[in-house]
Amino acid sequence: MPTVYNWQIGREMSYPHEERHPQTQFAFVFNPNRCIGCQTCTMACKSTWTFSKGQELMWWNNVETKPYGGYPQHWDAKLLAMLEEANPSGQVWDARNKETEKKPYGVFDGLTIFDAANQKPRPDFGAQQALGYLPTDDQWRAPNIHEDTATGDQFKTKGKDDYGGEAQLPEHKVWFFHLARICNHCTYPGCLASCPRNAIYKRPEDGVVLVDQGRCRGYRKCVEGCPYKKAMYRPTTRTTEKCIGCFPRLEGKDKTVSPTGAPAETRCMAACVGKIRLQGLLSIEEDGTWTEDPQNPLYYLIRQRQIALPLYPQFGTEPNGFYIPPRWVPRSYLVQMFGPGVDHAIEQYSCPDRELLAVLQLFRANQQIVFRFEIEEGPKVGEIEVTMPDGSSKTQELFNDTVLGFNKLGEEVVRVTVEEPTFERPADMHVNSI
Ligand code: SF4
Ligand code: SF4
Repeated sequence: MPTVYNWQIGREMSYPHEERHPQTQFAFVFNPNRCIGCQTCTMACKSTWTFSKGQELMWWNNVETKPYGGYPQHWDAKLLAMLEEANPSGQVWDARNKETEKKPYGVFDGLTIFDAANQKPRPDFGAQQALGYLPTDDQWRAPNIHEDTATGDQFKTKGKDDYGGEAQLPEHKVWFFHLARICNHCTYPGCLASCPRNAIYKRPEDGVVLVDQGRCRGYRKCVEGCPYKKAMYRPTTRTTEKCIGCFPRLEGKDKTVSPTGAPAETRCMAACVGKIRLQGLLSIEEDGTWTEDPQNPLYYLIRQRQIALPLYPQFGTEPNGFYIPPRWVPRSYLVQMFGPGVDHAIEQYSCPDRELLAVLQLFRANQQIVFRFEIEEGPKVGEIEVTMPDGSSKTQELFNDTVLGFNKLGEEVVRVTVEEPTFERPADMHVNSI
């Protein structure tokens, strides 16, 4: 099997195809600290792409309530257990062995899904390129099982070592959070690696991963091989379908949001009520490194500030979805989910400096993709005392800066201030207007 370099796990790994990279890569940052679980994103996707017969159980975008919820049920716990079984007590990180570009979170010393399939072929599962499993119909049935249920109290009684302990904020004894998920349009997709028909491909122009419906024969090896379970089988056509990254919008073809033809965000991003989502198209070098571009908001948040982290990087697919970890959740749970960068990310998010606070205003401020930001400095408007994760106190200075966002064509498409402006409606014009 060829070897490829995976910067998220800080090392080379085996992968069934030669290393090759797109010119730009579809990527996104989600901030679960702000997600209210309204499912507007879920319905925006469903009503756009998956409303037809045979797609009833198909939720390309879903929002699950962690720690209990999942779609399909237990998708992550099940795979983590399989990897643990393949490599008992060996699924560990060496977080001290870091290098900014090549291994920003350290080195993952355990087995990825590709390493595990290589090391331990499972005759009961048939030939596998990636360790995985096929969920049962029951596990696909309920897209939001245990929604809004704080199962963190059970975690408290069962003990820290078993489940990660109680909530990290003094105000709460129980915890949950909403984890919004779409296909990660991975750099080394498990779905693509597993397909015996070569029906899955990654677009060279934007890294979006698509299924060629003409080639697909519905073997469901991709469903088995996607660690995030984002490849979904449609019984009416007997083929697999998956998130297509709303590629017509990426191509600037939705004239209602992109009159000049600049790339626009996907439907789920554009509909987000909680303003938790920011999407980007990142420039990629031939060897797969990200072109240094600190004025790109995605590059800034992920590579420069390392405040947004990949979801289960240890699976090895180099997902291009990144999350700002929710700060009230037990650290051991978060480290398992987002890797060893969690403390650093939460430290910064708890008391963002002036520049970071301005960039965080760009989330869901506009429907076109922002390729570059600028900040215009404003007056100081206050100071607040912040309790840091370690219990210490810090003073945060607040400035009413303005952040500007520019689309691919260099046109200004966002201008938003840190302080949200308030408007008073004249009473004589609007009495009883509700
Ligand atoms: S998240 Fe799953 S379906 Fe999407 S590209 Fe990665 S492996 Fe494929
Ligand atoms: S629309 Fe936004 S806030 Fe609502 S569930 Fe989806 S990601 Fe969360």
